[in-house]
Amino acid sequence: MTKNVRVRFAPSPTGPLHIGGVRTALFNYLFAKKHNGTFILRIEDTDQNRYVEGAEKYIIDALKWCNMPFDEGPNTNEKFGPYRQSERKPLYKAYAEELIASGNAYYAFDTAEELNFQRKDHEANKKTFIYNWHNRLKLNNSLSLSAEDTQAKLDAGDDYVIRFKSPQDETLHLKDIIRGDIKIDTNILDDKVLFKSDGMPTYHLANIVDDHLMEISHVIRGEEWLPSLALHYQLYQAFGWDAPEFAHLPLILKPTGKGKLSKRDGDKLGFPVFPLLWEDPKTNEISRGYKEDGYFADAMVNFLAFLGWNPGTEQEIFNMEELIAAFDLKKVNKSGARFDPDKIKWFNHHYMKEQNNDELADIFKNSRPELADIDTSYIAMTVDLIKERATFVSDFWDLTSFFFVTPTVYDAKASKKALKEGTADLMNEVISLLNANTHFTVETLQTEIKGWITSNEISFGKVMMPLRLALVGALQGPDVFDIIYMIGKNETVKRIENLIKTI
Ligand code: GLU
Repeated sequence: MTKNVRVRFAPSPTGPLHIGGVRTALFNYLFAKKHNGTFILRIEDTDQNRYVEGAEKYIIDALKWCNMPFDEGPNTNEKFGPYRQSERKPLYKAYAEELIASGNAYYAFDTAEELNFQRKDHEANKKTFIYNWHNRLKLNNSLSLSAEDTQAKLDAGDDYVIRFKSPQDETLHLKDIIRGDIKIDTNILDDKVLFKSDGMPTYHLANIVDDHLMEISHVIRGEEWLPSLALHYQLYQAFGWDAPEFAHLPLILKPTGKGKLSKRDGDKLGFPVFPLLWEDPKTNEISRGYKEDGYFADAMVNFLAFLGWNPGTEQEIFNMEELIAAFDLKKVNKSGARFDPDKIKWFNHHYMKEQNNDELADIFKNSRPELADIDTSYIAMTVDLIKERATFVSDFWDLTSFFFVTPTVYDAKASKKALKEGTADLMNEVISLLNANTHFTVETLQTEIKGWITSNEISFGKVMMPLRLALVGALQGPDVFDIIYMIGKNETVKRIENLIKTI
């Protein structure tokens, strides 16, 4: 890659960032970092009607949580700033006028009623109304009106829009890194609105002008923008600018594989479709987020990387550095990527092992009132012993409660299996061994108790099962000697005595 790679993630702040948007950001980030390029955040807020309070902050928080810092963006290294389109408003008009002057765009004065009438009229004749070459001269615009009439309307302050003049009978040859060559017949294209008399550009104009001014080299975005590609190509041509390269990422599909993933699918099947929790500022409705649901950012990133991309090998676990090294836009698929909520759990389970024990202990401690007075370093030691069996921190209590509270009930099935004739005598012997042990390390406990079992030719289960039952209340948990060491001699003896009393 010879040119300087500059890519942008360009979300519209219309609500919480959907998981698909996070995937788009990730692919941009990976591509930028892979090519020592620049990852830019640009906020596309030209549609003021859809602007939602707090959405921009949410986007920035989500990128931060996922460890995808942007190199340029609002309040960050504003070399090509501002990076919010609403703050760039004054610069777009001149570009729209440039297109009019070069014959590539025109003023249109059609009112909403007039356009509605056309739509209905076409429908009545089983046709679809498209504002373009085949009827534009019959409509109310600067191509059908005289220059004087047009000027008079502008002078009178009539509402107008500026439309792109899409050519007739041409074939466009578009290129997409993922989809290859695409041919488009211009006759099917409509004359898209680029600018409105309220002074705001539409998405198309602002997006192209900004990509050009910000020297974007590659546009990587969702498949839903593919239908706009023909117009965007034509705009670059009309301005006489070099177009960036384009890559349209595959759709993210429902868990069934049929249709696009929506918030409703998440609600129905009980998984979030947003990275972070979101509270709607108007309705106060809460939408769950992966972070608050107990997922780790590295698990989510690893999972999202595989939605539409794969390295072509068996390897599935990739940290960010490894993803950057392995990522290749050419290995991104065209076909939709099925969203599998169980797969992200699988990743979370894997990444659990890699988390820092002290940090996990902190989260765990804050989630359980029972742990309020317990030393965090002790909690961290228990976490270390069980985390490989957990997917979420919320699984920890079931896996560790016996480290903190003495069992009061014993699992019935486990008791039947573990308590046999002679159990009480054996347990009393274990108590004597414990009392005689002076070093109290996992190793000495293990050597002494196991040594006693072997030299007396007792079966291991006869001792280890009731011992575990006494300590845990069930036949589960980490190594028995780890548990004894952790809860200490007195507590261990007390628990064995409690069990003996029930026999
Ligand atoms: N503002 C558009 C969006 O919300 C950006 C599309 C693009 O990347 O060109 O996705």
